[in-house]
Amino acid sequence: MLFGRRVRNPIKIADKGVVAWKYTTCGYCSTGCSIEVGLDASGKAVGARGVADAAVNQGKLCIKGIFEHELFNSANRGNRALLRLRTIDPYREVSWDEALDRTAAEIKRIQEKYGRDSVAIVSTGQILTEEFYTLGKLVRGVIGTNNYDGNTTLCMASAVSGYKRSFGSDGPPGCYEDFAHTGCLLAFGSNLPEQHPIIYWRLKMALEKREFPVIVVDPRVTMFAQMADIHLPITPGTDLVLLNALAHVILKENLHDQAYIEAHTTGFEEFSRLVAQYDPTTAAGLCGIDEDTIRNVARLYARADAAMSIWTMGINQSTHGSDGVAAINNLNLITGNIGKPGGTSLSITGQCNAMGTREWSSCSGLPGYRALEKEADREAIARYWGIDPEFFPQQRGLFMTDIFPAIETGQIKALWLIATNPMTSMPNSPRIRKTIEKLEFLAVQDAYADVETTRYAHVYLPAALWGEKEGVFTNTERRVNLVRKVVEPHGDSKPDLWIFNQLAKRFEQGRRIAFPESPAAVFEEMRELSKGRMLDCSGMTHDRIERQRGIQWPCPEGAETGAPRLYTDGVFQHPGGKAKLIALPFVDNNERPDDDYPFWLNSGRVVEHFHTRTRTGKIGNLNKFSPTPYMEMNPDAAGRLGIEHMAYARLVSRRGDAVVLVQLTQRVPPNMVFIPFHFHECVNRLTLGLLDPHSRQPAFKQCAVRIERAPNQREAATANVAARAF
Ligand code: SF4
Repeated sequence: MLFGRRVRNPIKIADKGVVAWKYTTCGYCSTGCSIEVGLDASGKAVGARGVADAAVNQGKLCIKGIFEHELFNSANRGNRALLRLRTIDPYREVSWDEALDRTAAEIKRIQEKYGRDSVAIVSTGQILTEEFYTLGKLVRGVIGTNNYDGNTTLCMASAVSGYKRSFGSDGPPGCYEDFAHTGCLLAFGSNLPEQHPIIYWRLKMALEKREFPVIVVDPRVTMFAQMADIHLPITPGTDLVLLNALAHVILKENLHDQAYIEAHTTGFEEFSRLVAQYDPTTAAGLCGIDEDTIRNVARLYARADAAMSIWTMGINQSTHGSDGVAAINNLNLITGNIGKPGGTSLSITGQCNAMGTREWSSCSGLPGYRALEKEADREAIARYWGIDPEFFPQQRGLFMTDIFPAIETGQIKALWLIATNPMTSMPNSPRIRKTIEKLEFLAVQDAYADVETTRYAHVYLPAALWGEKEGVFTNTERRVNLVRKVVEPHGDSKPDLWIFNQLAKRFEQGRRIAFPESPAAVFEEMRELSKGRMLDCSGMTHDRIERQRGIQWPCPEGAETGAPRLYTDGVFQHPGGKAKLIALPFVDNNERPDDDYPFWLNSGRVVEHFHTRTRTGKIGNLNKFSPTPYMEMNPDAAGRLGIEHMAYARLVSRRGDAVVLVQLTQRVPPNMVFIPFHFHECVNRLTLGLLDPHSRQPAFKQCAVRIERAPNQREAATANVAARAF
């Protein structure tokens, strides 16, 4: 008998007393898994399971989804509105009326004194699309500040910018089903098994039926790199060099699709002149991938019947993130791999509703992918909302990453944060803390009362969580999924839609504009405004979305279902209908390791964490896996510095320092370390955060640090524990 294996000991599943399962959609990542939450006889959420007939996840959930029901009663949920006159005073619990009256009064006071744009609003990728649309109406149509953005600038702005530059519009052209048709997959800076486990499972399902090469470009040996056929351990920040070199080989060896280029693109001559400079020999010296591998990958990609590229933060979070996205689009345009099964440029989005904010929040424009810069768009929305089109600005205001410097210089005096946590998520967090202290008024609206920003706020508005309200999310493949209300909001917290509507009533213009109260009625407005547009959702209703387990846009009225792909006819959104091939010279403008700071600092997500851990840090079954700030370090490099496995180390950059527990692993090369980005007072004490000129997204993933063994290990352990506090 081997270890008691002959003893029958069947797996026991605890009976949690579920009496009803309620349909909803996962509120963590952008995969868009359909989930059922189990309620016991008292109405308490006690379990979760995947929905078997859902197109996206087919009954599967990752570890975050499996324990998502525990969020409803997790620690430090906000249950009462809080208010104080000065940030040195203690908060007192107040009624919603008092908190909202004060918020509206402060916004009006500051706008009257300093001008409309002295108030800034930063939202999220986490709330429901109906809420985004309503917030946009409140900000653009009532409050009227132009300094309004979302934290998606920290994750998806480069993808949006790159899509717009190449295709004339945002909107991922492909879908998960493309894995089942592709002949080659090229993944840039995307650790799919940890970041989007269920999309990875879709890929594995496709690979089980049919083999095709999987090529992963990542400086670290990620989980995805370990299962790839080819891993390209690229020098951080040089993806544009690699992409130009791949295009160079494809054009030189006549592997491009000339007919597609002529019919559907502009800019080929300038583009080909530029990539002619990126021969594989020169490129290898810059990006660290040998020239034979560059040629091999270029040939594999171009010779496949259909080839697709996916990417995540490894491309987006860079000083040339937007160029990286446009370069991926270039690669797919010259090989004719847009809009066909298995041929696409698919950005894998981060937050559950990052797409919803891109489509409907009005952060960068007006609802339904309309632009502030276009007179016709301003007039259409002003007419629909019943306001003067002159009330709208004629170009977008500051991005999130420019709002904080504007607070520093006194241009912005008030800030309203909605479900976002800049004290952990913004680069150079010590500077952000000093900046936020300069505000005359700060309002924080969040499901958790313990986010660090509440320490600097005057008003805290407790918001309901995803399954405590109703509406839709759009996932990575443009699928609109329905979130049904599963339980009542915690304590006295309220759905964000309710908060926006109540605030609107406190402004004169807000009383003149219609603010529907139910999510379904808001969705009706979105349906109307989407008619005939690229993201047409006029064929959808909440009930129909639930019945079909999500519907992809466009889905015009009368359509049976949504369209899986965009640009299938080769007609793009630029005037003239052609996509742009863009010449993209590589400019090496990042901080790089040197004698004083000899290591690259890389960061990323691990499977059991979600952004800044405000939620996953509260769930025992997730938190137990990676509870403490840690760093992956190569054993050779650690040996040279006298740092052993599980010792504490101090990292120092030109901005600040951080203390981490060391894990020795060959996953990182000797000149690089990796730290999960979610920990408070950790990686963003070190990051530089230079901004992409097009998207204003920070280069979180490329900066230089030096490392030393923490001289006092006990003190280091204390500092490490303190960093878990939020
Ligand atoms: S993969 Fe994403 S959407 Fe699916 S269960 Fe996990 S966190 Fe939720």
